[in-house]
Amino acid sequence: MSTLEHIDCPICEQDETKLLFTKDSLSIQICQKCRLRYVNPRIDHQSLEEGYVETYYPEEKVERIHTDSMEWLQMSERLSELEKLHGSKGRLLDVGCGIGTFLHLASEQGWETQGIDPSKSGCAFAQNVHNLDVHCGDVFDANYPTAHFNAITLYHVLEHISELNPFLNELRRILKPKTNNKNAGTLVIEVPNGEGMQSRLHKENWHYVHPKDHLYYFSVRSLSRLLHKHGFHEIKVGKPKRVSPTTNGLFPLRKVSTALLVRFNLGTVIRLYAS
Ligand SMILES: [Zn+2]
Repeated sequence: MSTLEHIDCPICEQDETKLLFTKDSLSIQICQKCRLRYVNPRIDHQSLEEGYVETYYPEEKVERIHTDSMEWLQMSERLSELEKLHGSKGRLLDVGCGIGTFLHLASEQGWETQGIDPSKSGCAFAQNVHNLDVHCGDVFDANYPTAHFNAITLYHVLEHISELNPFLNELRRILKPKTNNKNAGTLVIEVPNGEGMQSRLHKENWHYVHPKDHLYYFSVRSLSRLLHKHGFHEIKVGKPKRVSPTTNGLFPLRKVSTALLVRFNLGTVIRLYAS
């Protein structure tokens, strides 16, 4: 049985909000200070966790994702931008790795990969089918060494994390910091864009508005602010390309308009590279 919990804005650590709208009996508020949009009150941490562990990847979903060619193309697109912007390869941790498609591709390209996911069936698939090194649990009980990873990736994960500040502190600790002779590790975060064109047009009917487990609706600005707070000072905005059957050269106009939206931070998703 879930209960509701009240939170302060995770960026400002105070609660001065205005109601934007409600959906599924939950309220999406906007912080008056930093403009972060977040669900408050929200479903308690314990109930959310239980959902991810037991029911997030039922068998038919695993099969559907694994055999979906668009899913594979999307993962390749993510990896190729990471490789372009990060430079050298090394140790890669994918947080919320699900069934392991992204890590599988990264391993093939020579990354030394590790994954983490709360879902039992997701982890089992990543381990048994892709033969990956995956920790089934959360980033706190994984106990990774300090300054260990060259890259940490979170694709559509951060909006699910209840304890944002301790979580980002832990990622900062395990990612390589900048030193004189070596490149800093890169943190990659992709989330739905709470201030994008789709979000503005469709408001509570936007398909990413799912307040039971999408707890925050970031913008480039609010996400950068959160990252600064945790010691990430160099932030680059990525240009995520959505792969779909209709963007294979058939609609060049649509491609141009999508590129413009991304350029002005109005795309459907945001992808930031931070170090
Ligand atoms: Zn705030």
